[in-house]
Amino acid sequence: MRVKDKVAIVTGGASGIGKEIVRLFQQEGATVIAADINEVALKEVAKWDLVHAKVLDVSSEESWSALASTVEDEFGRIDILVNNAGISSEKPLEEISINDWDIMMRINSFGPFAGIKHVAPIMEKQKTGSIVNISSYTAQIGLGLNAYSASKGAVRALSKAAATHYGRQGVRVNAIFPGVIETPMTQALQSSSQMLNQLIQATPLGRLGTPEDIANTVLFLSSDESSYITGAEIVIDGGFSAQ
Ligand code: NAD
Repeated sequence: MRVKDKVAIVTGGASGIGKEIVRLFQQEGATVIAADINEVALKEVAKWDLVHAKVLDVSSEESWSALASTVEDEFGRIDILVNNAGISSEKPLEEISINDWDIMMRINSFGPFAGIKHVAPIMEKQKTGSIVNISSYTAQIGLGLNAYSASKGAVRALSKAAATHYGRQGVRVNAIFPGVIETPMTQALQSSSQMLNQLIQATPLGRLGTPEDIANTVLFLSSDESSYITGAEIVIDGGFSAQ
């Protein structure tokens, strides 16, 4: 019961990493708002105890504003925000259109920014709160010259700046940098035995990550066990980027 009675918003909570964070949070006693653009997938998590599904488009400021005020009205507070929703693309630099770039930035970078903008003031009033942003290991190493890596680099910088800005108000902000995790997002890689073998060879711990690997660390950063940790960057990639 490490987050008992806390109110948590998890974006992208209907699939992959976000879905596992929702499951773990409710198992540990939190009231969880699973927020996602995919209404169909949300129906499954809405069946779990303590989970409330809300439709959210992280790329829309109106959508964020509506969600933050609905959750505050319905539940009285917001203790945890996990900015997890995201999209990926492997398009190389030469093939990225301005529209591709804008969509990637709007969802992956503006999404967490707007989440912080609308939720952190509620946490400031409470004088407590924990925000966890899901970036990517590609934001820390020179892998993937594409819009995805750039969008996740913005999340890295945003996390540090927000941790600095909100620290004295009791709001902590940390960032997680997953390596390749077994979710629908990495389906193509998982089904190519050549790419999979190369990756496993290059990973000191010799396997891909699981949604549980990420959710356990998100739980720690969201709970009071990490009450002196803010502005931290935690890489969870089986040692891939340590080489
Ligand atoms: P996923 O595709 O399984 O889930 C992403 C979720 O985000 C989906 O439920 C989707 O509906 C939701 N989403 C997409 N656009 C949205 C929007 N505009 N508004 C609200 N929700 C939206 O992916 P995942 O692997 O679970 O990824 C979760 C996060 O982890 C992403 O930010 C991703 O970039 C990051 N990440 C994943 C990996 C990996 O290997 N899977 C590695 C590093 C970082």
